[in-house]
Amino acid sequence: MEIKNEDFREIVDSDAADKNGSEDEYEKYCFVCRRPESKTGKMIKMMDGMYICPDCMQKTMDAVSASPLNLDKYTEKSDDLEIPKGPNISMINLADLQGLMSPRKKVKKKKADKKPAIDLKDIPAPHKIKAQLDEYIIGQEHAKKAISVAVYNHYKRVATNTMDSIEIEKSNILMIGPTGCGKTYLVKTLARLLDVPLAIADATTLTEAGYIGDDIESVVSKLLAAADNDVEKAERGIIFIDEIDKIGKKKNQNQRDVNGEAVQQGLLKLLEGAEVDVPVGSNSKNGMVPMETVDTRNILFICGGAFPGLEDIIKERLNKQSSIGFNADLKDKYDHDRNILQKVTVEDVKSFGMIPEFIGRLPVLLSLEALTKDMLVQILREPKNAILKQYKKLLELDEVELLFNEDSLEAIAEKALEKDTGARALRAIIEEFMLDIMYEIPKDDNIGKVTITREYIEHTGGPIIEMRGTKVLEGRIQ
Ligand code: ADP
Repeated sequence: MEIKNEDFREIVDSDAADKNGSEDEYEKYCFVCRRPESKTGKMIKMMDGMYICPDCMQKTMDAVSASPLNLDKYTEKSDDLEIPKGPNISMINLADLQGLMSPRKKVKKKKADKKPAIDLKDIPAPHKIKAQLDEYIIGQEHAKKAISVAVYNHYKRVATNTMDSIEIEKSNILMIGPTGCGKTYLVKTLARLLDVPLAIADATTLTEAGYIGDDIESVVSKLLAAADNDVEKAERGIIFIDEIDKIGKKKNQNQRDVNGEAVQQGLLKLLEGAEVDVPVGSNSKNGMVPMETVDTRNILFICGGAFPGLEDIIKERLNKQSSIGFNADLKDKYDHDRNILQKVTVEDVKSFGMIPEFIGRLPVLLSLEALTKDMLVQILREPKNAILKQYKKLLELDEVELLFNEDSLEAIAEKALEKDTGARALRAIIEEFMLDIMYEIPKDDNIGKVTITREYIEHTGGPIIEMRGTKVLEGRIQ
């Protein structure tokens, strides 16, 4: 930088002024940018009475730290003498240090300028939701109706943002029903129809934070992953927590209840709505994983469980009620009531071992019925993606027609009922006997039609095979 004569004069003047102790008389100028102290703020005194303003000082430091001094750059190799590479020197930015000392707070986007994530017009009315569910789910009329209304109300609140102004409870749902009756399937179908992300978690793997197992907030990170790490999308998703009955209060209170009552307690704030920091792309929090803040206020929580033994609690209550007073009834009136679960109340669930605060945050209580033989037959045949339709399609590709006679369907349903795992058993049974069919049929190009019979299911006969002509062969595949 070129320094002119008058610069020197001013510097000398200012130096002289310093020495004389009459600093006020002369204004200091920045040696680099030539601005007076009144404009730049307090000057920093350098050697020989030179001053530099804070801006120029910072710029100089920035420039040095941007291109760290590498001695290698400045040393010339001469006579094979190589000077070792010098250390990189970088300057410390004071402003950064300040940031370190008082960590910057995460600033969330202002709620006010957030437009609602869902448009009211996009939410189908309850009867439309139910009609779509009907295409996939057999029976469970009450549950389908109630869930359609609950989901509609929930998203209506999300869309119109009325959760703040009027204290409307979140319509989180508690679903009770025997295993294999379609709880998970109902939620999955719902999420697909509404096109919202869904996370399915198992309550048995959850433990109080700090213990082996997934901590409670991991359910939110699962949802974030299902929403492709899009926080806004995740914030209007659905979290399904299965096997919720397994976190009932333990009767034996000698040990610490890390995956029972403690998990219920931990879930409370999520169910109600809280801002949680969750790791992105991982289940565990650690320093290396980026975090996102997810607000669970608009996330719909559905908890499901089989609640074994709940029937007895309901029966006991009902029997007690009906045996007192003028309306006293037969003592065992409810003993053979198949749909006793439909009569469940909050009190019964409390007696089962769920804590009152937890049930309080799941205001919609639904129960699903156990599947009957007729329902199982319908499940085989009717839903949009019914198992039989899938196998028919597969054989169609080989130009073979697959038929099941009525009796065979009943036989399959009877076998499934024996297993007591609801509709889940159907697929296993069908897969077992369809294996042979799928293996044998492509061997013979002449086969045009296969009819599955009860005898074939019960291993007492074979299917009816029809060749492409008219010949009927019985029991070729056993
Ligand atoms: P759970 O009630 O134990 O969660 P699932 O929903 O997982 O049972 O059901 C298992 C399978 O059984 C589903 O994938 C679905 O194919 C079938 N299923 C169960 N219930 C029904 C139903 N009511 N209608 C149609 N399919 C059903």
